[in-house]
Amino acid sequence: MRLVRFQAQGRPACGVIEGSEVIELEGDGLVPSARKKTRHVLSALRLLPPCVPTKVVAVGLNYRDHARELGMAVPEEPIIFLKPPTTVIGPGEQIRYPAMSRQVDYEAELGVVIGRTARDCSPDAAAEHIRGYTCANDVTARDLQRKDGQWTRAKSFDTFCPIGPWIETDLDPSDLLVESYLNGVRRQSSRTSQFLFNVPHLVSFISRIMTLHPGDLIITGTPSGIGPMQAGDEIEVRIEGIGSLKNNVIADCGSRIAE
Ligand code: MG
Repeated sequence: MRLVRFQAQGRPACGVIEGSEVIELEGDGLVPSARKKTRHVLSALRLLPPCVPTKVVAVGLNYRDHARELGMAVPEEPIIFLKPPTTVIGPGEQIRYPAMSRQVDYEAELGVVIGRTARDCSPDAAAEHIRGYTCANDVTARDLQRKDGQWTRAKSFDTFCPIGPWIETDLDPSDLLVESYLNGVRRQSSRTSQFLFNVPHLVSFISRIMTLHPGDLIITGTPSGIGPMQAGDEIEVRIEGIGSLKNNVIADCGSRIAE
């Protein structure tokens, strides 16, 4: 099942995709809910981010090859950090290139959407708390990440977490192809089977630190091949079994990125 959120007559709504149509659902879709009679044409809808997280928990260095390209040691436990909910944008929305940075990178990542509150759950129980999976881009001001020595500023600019286009609920996340395309040219390509820490391990680990609420999002780390974007670029994240998330980059007001 593919769950989408969209704008319907000035209000956010949720639905399930059936062919070229979307059937509206009661509620937010995070728990199974009744179908309404209202149908929409998918291609005519303005899609919203498929969930509204209270927090985005991101995992650093979860692919062996990405740790290598950054010259960092492979971690013994997951390295996690937070992106504020204000980073989240939906498919087709614009990533704003901040004036403060001279290098803004894309990072294609599998997103895990929580459906049921998870607190102190075991890896075996993790699946019961997952609603589904989506494409995510952990946009990063790489120069500020290096300069600050910690990652909050670099990862937290508004628009730095595009997600979507929908939540795929029926998917085994253990071996999916994860790719990014910059202006149509493939830049990243790996499989989630290369994870250092798999999805059940990540959900369990994070839930032993903080309560995960319905709608919260875990982004699971990026493979090698990260690189910079410029204003005017189109960045696409493609994940097998989910789909394609496209966003364009625009210069923030006052930017001097062309230096
Ligand atoms: Mg990342």
